[in-house]
Amino acid sequence: MTALSSEASAAAVGEPLVVLDHVEKWYGDLHVLQDINLSIKRGEVVVVIGPSGSGKSTLCRTINRLETIDKGSITLDGKALPQEGKQLADLRAEVGMVFQSFNLFAHKTILENVTLGPIKVRKIAKAEAEKLGMQLLERVGLANQAPKYPAQLSGGQQQRVAIARALAMQPKVMLFDEPTSALDPEMIKEVLDVMVDLAKQGMTMVVVTHEMGFARTAANRIVFMADGQVLEEGTPEEFFTNAQSARARDFLGHIL
Ligand code: ADP
Ligand code: MG
Repeated sequence: MTALSSEASAAAVGEPLVVLDHVEKWYGDLHVLQDINLSIKRGEVVVVIGPSGSGKSTLCRTINRLETIDKGSITLDGKALPQEGKQLADLRAEVGMVFQSFNLFAHKTILENVTLGPIKVRKIAKAEAEKLGMQLLERVGLANQAPKYPAQLSGGQQQRVAIARALAMQPKVMLFDEPTSALDPEMIKEVLDVMVDLAKQGMTMVVVTHEMGFARTAANRIVFMADGQVLEEGTPEEFFTNAQSARARDFLGHIL
């Protein structure tokens, strides 16, 4: 390999894309995020795990500014997250988010759900948005469902639409907050398979999940949170075989 190509690939994966620096957040007296320092690199898949109430959802929500922070900074691709206005809307469009509840627009078709953002926010022509939308629905295995309405689809299908809808905005990073927790067991795999594909294609992903199989196979790094703090970080191998903190070992004892 020439020096040039190795430099090019080092630039493609590895430089920090989302950086949280000494982030603090309170809800009243509750110190929900405590000195969070995280650097998520381009192409990296970071799985966030930890007990209920540890601040995982809040962490995700601060990354796309659904929640403000009280101290510290969050940057996306080198730019500070603005507090409000058009700049915030622009920046938020670069962060795709998939929630536990699918949050599809009930009165829009599957294809409309996927094309709405690109048309309204990205100002893409309808025909082009539809073409892209159909490609994305193809990618999540749902092109044949395009004219239907969300209620006509299973939970797993709806969540795959939600993923396609987020991807339609061509985000730099995708956040998943327990995307399979509301699904019946038989539908979990079809959603995880889409996420694994996305990871393989190089998408930068932050995934909050209790699916330890996914964490083991798809994560580059596991972040373990408890009580608003990042207690441990490591590769899946390190974390699952050699967790350092009693909290993490206790958590693993319950979940595995
Ligand atoms: P997790 O996703 O790890 O279960 P959350 O980030 O949802 O944790 O919540 C962390 C803590 O913050 C919990 O104690 C929760 O009750 C509290 N919390 C979450 N959202 C709010 C809010 N909007 N106002 C006040 N407290 C909140
Ligand atoms: Mg949560």
